[in-house]
Amino acid sequence: MRDCKILIVEDEALIRRELKTLLENAMYQVEAFTHFTDLPGRIAACRPDLVLLDVNLPEGNGFDVCLKLRQQSQVPVIFLTSRTDSMDELNGMLKGGDDYITKPYQAPILLARIAAVLKRTGDFREASVYEHKGVQLDISRCCILRQGKCQELTKNEMKLLHRLFKSPGEYVSRMELIEYLWENQIFIDDNTLSVHVARIREKLRALGVEEFVETKRGIGYRI
Ligand code: CA
Repeated sequence: MRDCKILIVEDEALIRRELKTLLENAMYQVEAFTHFTDLPGRIAACRPDLVLLDVNLPEGNGFDVCLKLRQQSQVPVIFLTSRTDSMDELNGMLKGGDDYITKPYQAPILLARIAAVLKRTGDFREASVYEHKGVQLDISRCCILRQGKCQELTKNEMKLLHRLFKSPGEYVSRMELIEYLWENQIFIDDNTLSVHVARIREKLRALGVEEFVETKRGIGYRI
């Protein structure tokens, strides 16, 4: 997980769920409100790194929420708007340097806007590209790269590598990796982890990298 929390304030349950999945897949920590009273105080108390704030909320509009929020927090806000919202009003609101996304949004554009706003506000504390021994792990593109060649990763392969890239040179135990990858699942065949590691090694081999992920029997893996 990135060390970066995004709060979703969106009253349409379907859009809220979609956004949550999208952001979690992009390795953000995500919280989503499901009731919409006392928003400015609750948003500030949640201490997110960024807020996705719907403009049309059941008990008022997102612009007013943002104005009140600004009295206690400078957290970046990206408004979620509908095509019917007034552009004049929107432009007025955006002078603070935040951004907006029109629904229905396109996932890559939304992710790019979020990354750009986080970068701009200087709160993007963790790199989205890791490098070790000439191999790069690109979190936002979900791939590994070497010398311009790229291999796409599944979400679990990326999570596994992400954990290893976070502490290069140190063995990470099989148990820790299994918990990290499949946190809420009770039954995970120990063999599943080995299968994932084997697939990662194949992808590394396709990039011309051998013996990148080391195994220590009874201990775990390291890079
Ligand atoms: Ca709404």
